Amino acid sequence: MTATAPITQDVLTIPRKLPEGAKNLAGMTREQMREALIEAGTPQKQAKMRLNQVWQWVYHWGVTDFDVMTNLSKDYRKMLSENFVIERPELVTKLVSEDGTRKYLVRIAGGHEVEIVYIPEEGRGTLCVSSQVGCTLTCSFCHTGTQKLVRNLTASEIVGQIMLARDDLDEWPEPGTGTGDDGPRLLSNIVLMGMGEPLYNFENVRDAMKITMDGEGIALGRRRITLSTSGVVPEIARTAEEIGCLLAVSFHATTDEVRDKLVPVNKKWNIETLLDALREYPKATNSERITFEYVMLDGVNDTFEDAHRLVKLLDGIPAKVNLIPFNEWPGAPYKRSSNNRIHAFARILMEAGYASPIRTPRGEDIMAACGQLKSATERARKSRAQIEAEAGL
Ligand code: SAH
Ligand code: SF4
Repeated sequence: MTATAPITQDVLTIPRKLPEGAKNLAGMTREQMREALIEAGTPQKQAKMRLNQVWQWVYHWGVTDFDVMTNLSKDYRKMLSENFVIERPELVTKLVSEDGTRKYLVRIAGGHEVEIVYIPEEGRGTLCVSSQVGCTLTCSFCHTGTQKLVRNLTASEIVGQIMLARDDLDEWPEPGTGTGDDGPRLLSNIVLMGMGEPLYNFENVRDAMKITMDGEGIALGRRRITLSTSGVVPEIARTAEEIGCLLAVSFHATTDEVRDKLVPVNKKWNIETLLDALREYPKATNSERITFEYVMLDGVNDTFEDAHRLVKLLDGIPAKVNLIPFNEWPGAPYKRSSNNRIHAFARILMEAGYASPIRTPRGEDIMAACGQLKSATERARKSRAQIEAEAGL
């Protein structure tokens, strides 16, 4: 990977093989589940009630076994089990870092793999969810961007990551013990900051987040979800309208010349176009500020001039800046800025009135930190020919 990458790489887009037979209820929106239940023989008249019952079993109680759905008749349960399954993506490996960060490698239909990271914090916990296998964009500092296999995840595969993490954290309420809504949650926040560009997979991400936000299910409110984009301008307004979550932007540079190299999608939508879209982001208010992510790369984007330019660019946007010390990966063409430099950069932003926390890298020992995600098999793979052969192409 050179530091001047093309906007999108020469990728192998994997055709998605649809599973045959029983349909997976986990991942259906309310509308899809209603239709599926009717198609499987639920009388129209009962559809609303059945939908509510099944929905709660799947998304509120998190069960995977039809036998425990005790408010449904035996016959109805039999019908469900003949037509449907309730499945998560398959867990391949789970690594736990010294700092408690957990990284899951999961396998999805077609044999492809994605990574999910759970970051526990005091009184809360954040799950970093992937939206694609790999990423078609080629940000030159990002490990995921060097992965050549790319496919969009389905809504089921996206919400399935959250369900799998709740399984592992044992955070589903026990049937018959109340709703389990009290107290702090282990998994309290979602960031769409794993592998992939979520706004290149808009509909699936939106559907998965709608399911996640539904009050009779996983019930994580829209302000607990942050979607991070590299700057796919045409989808930004839609994100506010159709998802309504918080927004983060991978900004990373203060001139087009540098941003073209770091985040090549900048050649399509440059800094000015991006900032115009963000100024218009309907949800942006002082209480729902846009997060500007800024990776600190030694000698590339970390000068005092950069910090002052950034302050000017942010003018008029309710913003905070997240400074991310660069996380190295094998063969990366950059170095992390020194601590002194990062703190000096943060001070300039702070003096201009912007919150500018420095993100502590989490899970570095298990390659779970920002930008380090890439499936283990992909890393181990030797050649493109082999990738093609394994993908059956
Ligand atoms: N594709 C989306 C979502 C991924 S978010 C996006 O780019 O916004 C992952 C965040 O980590 C992004 O801000 C990304 O720019 C940043 N990142 C990528 N590689 C990194 C690295 N090696 N060190 C630190 N941050 C990195
Ligand atoms: Fe893709 Fe985001 Fe990585 Fe860029 S930083 S290559 S958009 S995952």
